[in-house]
Amino acid sequence: MTEKLSIEKRFSDIEHNLEVIRSKIDFAAKKSGRKAEDITFMAVTKTVEPVFINKAIECGVDLIGENKVQEFLSKKEYLKLDSCTAHLIGHLQTNKVKQIVGQVDMIQSLDSLKLAKEISKQSTARNIVTKCLVEVNVGQEDSKTGIDFLSVGSLLDEISQMQGIKVCGLMAIPPICENESELSAYFEKMHRLFIDTREEKRDNIDMQILSMGMSGDYEKAIECGSNLVRVGSAVFGPRIY
Ligand SMILES: *Cc1c(COP(=O)(O)O)cnc(C)c1O
Repeated sequence: MTEKLSIEKRFSDIEHNLEVIRSKIDFAAKKSGRKAEDITFMAVTKTVEPVFINKAIECGVDLIGENKVQEFLSKKEYLKLDSCTAHLIGHLQTNKVKQIVGQVDMIQSLDSLKLAKEISKQSTARNIVTKCLVEVNVGQEDSKTGIDFLSVGSLLDEISQMQGIKVCGLMAIPPICENESELSAYFEKMHRLFIDTREEKRDNIDMQILSMGMSGDYEKAIECGSNLVRVGSAVFGPRIY
C-alpha cells in the first residue's frame, strides 16, 4: 500500500515538475528572443527506473538522455520508445562503441579523435551514419571530460574526412561557478564557438544543436543561446545511486 502510494506520488511529481520546467523554458526562450519550440527539452534518465521514464514519456517527453551504455541497453526493452528518442550523454569508452552504435539516435559525448575514428569504423560496418555532438571542456578543467576548447576546430577538420559520422553541434558542462556572471561567461563562450564553427563549412559537419543547461542552470543556458537542455533531477527528483 505505501509503495503504491509513493509510486503515485512520484508520478504526480513528475507530471508537475514537467509543467513547471516547460513554463520556465518558455519564459527563458522568450527572454532570448526565441520561442519555446526552438528549445529541445531532454529528460535525463540515468538511475531512473523505466516505470518513471515511461511516465515522463506519457507526459509528452520525446527525448531522453542516458549516461551509461550498459544501463541504457538493459533498460531499453522496457521503455516506450515509439514516440521518444534517446541520446547517449555520458563519457563513452572506445571499447563500448560497438555496443551503442545504432542503439541511440545521437551520441552527445564525442570528445576525442580516437573515439570519432571508432564511431566512424563501427557505423560504416553497419552501413549507418551516427549523429554526434562534440563535447567541449569549456572550463579547461583537468577533471572534466570533453575535448579541449582550442582543439575543437582540428577535431572537426578530421571528422569531415570520415565516413559514417556526422556532427550536429556541440555539448558542454560548465565548471561549478561562484556566481551567475561567471556561469554566463562560459555559456556565452560556447555560444560563440557554436556560431563560429557553424559558419565554417566542412563536410559531415552541420552545426544545429548547442546542448547546454542542466537542472540548476537551464534557464541561464537558454538565455545565453542553448537550444537543447538536459534536465534530470528537476524532473525525477534527486538521484539515488
Ligand atoms: C546527469 C546529467 C545531466 C542532468 O543533470 P541534473 O543536474 O540532474 O539535471 C545533464 N547532462 C549530463 C551530461 C549528465 O550527466
